[in-house]
Amino acid sequence: MNILILNAGSSSQKSCLYNLQDTLPQNPPEPLWEAAIDWTHTEGVAELTVKTKAGLWQEAIALQHPSDLTQSSRAVTGKMLQTLWQGSTSVIQQPSEIDAVGHRVVHGGQRYQTTTRIDPSVKVEIQRLIPLAPAHNPANLEGIETVEQLLSQDVPQFAIFDTAFHSTIPEPAAIYPGPYAWVAQGIRRYGFHGTSHQYCAERAAQLLNQDLADLKLITCHLGNGCSLAAIHQGKSVDTTMGFTPMEGLMMGSRSGSVDPGILLYLMRQQGLGADELEQLLNKQSGLKGLSGLSNDLRTVRAAIAQGNTQAQLAYEVYIHRIRSGIGAMLASLGGLDALVFTAGVGENSAAVRSQVCAGFAFLGLALDAERNTAMAGSGDVAIAAPGSRVQVLVIHTQEDWQIAKACWAAL
Ligand code: AMP
Repeated sequence: MNILILNAGSSSQKSCLYNLQDTLPQNPPEPLWEAAIDWTHTEGVAELTVKTKAGLWQEAIALQHPSDLTQSSRAVTGKMLQTLWQGSTSVIQQPSEIDAVGHRVVHGGQRYQTTTRIDPSVKVEIQRLIPLAPAHNPANLEGIETVEQLLSQDVPQFAIFDTAFHSTIPEPAAIYPGPYAWVAQGIRRYGFHGTSHQYCAERAAQLLNQDLADLKLITCHLGNGCSLAAIHQGKSVDTTMGFTPMEGLMMGSRSGSVDPGILLYLMRQQGLGADELEQLLNKQSGLKGLSGLSNDLRTVRAAIAQGNTQAQLAYEVYIHRIRSGIGAMLASLGGLDALVFTAGVGENSAAVRSQVCAGFAFLGLALDAERNTAMAGSGDVAIAAPGSRVQVLVIHTQEDWQIAKACWAAL
């Protein structure tokens, strides 16, 4: 069975095709075909990259309608999908060989708590939720509609919502202490990165050779966006992101949680409006804003090595926020069997893992310093010292594979 995955971000569209048999493999298999579109490098140009067993293929596509982003994005996504059955990148003969399509959809609100087959009413709901995820839900809808145009209407399409995994968070952790009217208005904590947190939890149980139902886990998704999840018996019981992906940890260019009084102050004293505040909190804060350098931790650390004290401060705040977030997750879990690091920073920065873990020595958590540094980049590994009372794992997150598994199970 061939399952196509679409994972659309605010400035990229990633896709892959898995060929699956009747039994799922223990370890994530290599996709037959992987493709990505990047809009960020050159204005008016989309860079398409396709990877198959035959090799890597790249094309810069000049946008026909640069001012109409929706039309451009549909056209380029269509072109990307056609490389599945056309030209030197083809891995299937025709579109009818695709049995199902899985879409990562960022916001599913309160209605969608599991893998959902897409029909017109689901599309209406994804559309309705655009104000809650303005950078992502439109791109997700475009992907769904492009697939509808290219493949037969009979091919089942599934939405896997980033918020769904967190739908089990109990009300005291999900409800904001604002006016009660917020509850009816859906102003509550939804949480994000759900597919990644769920994948890491299931993979952690596999690596520890234990039943997920017996484990208390904290998964740390530290990439450009950062969030933590407290997972008990395979279910999310708390997370750091909330109503939007702006709450919680300090991120690449997002502030994470700040005193809401700061926003009122900036509105009154500096006359800032909603768009300016959004730009400030989403794009000019976090590692980038505080260091004044970059959202990329590698750049910040390189500057620290050169003696840059502003970069040092940004890094220290970043670590402090992760530690205090872990403290909150610990309280929601009431114990901890394993701490899991994933995503760009979590998987690659031994320094971040070591400094975060140092804050929890009082739990009996001890890292094996050599494994922490030597094993980086060599797949999923356990890096706690022998005798540590808490396991520490580095897991390469595989959201696309988690989506493929969900589609396979739904079929
Ligand atoms: P992601 O959003 O998961 O793709 O993560 C992207 C971020 O991971 C980048 O912006 C970097 O900050 C970080 N990153 C990637 N590789 C490394 C590395 N070797 N060391 C530290 N940070 C890294």
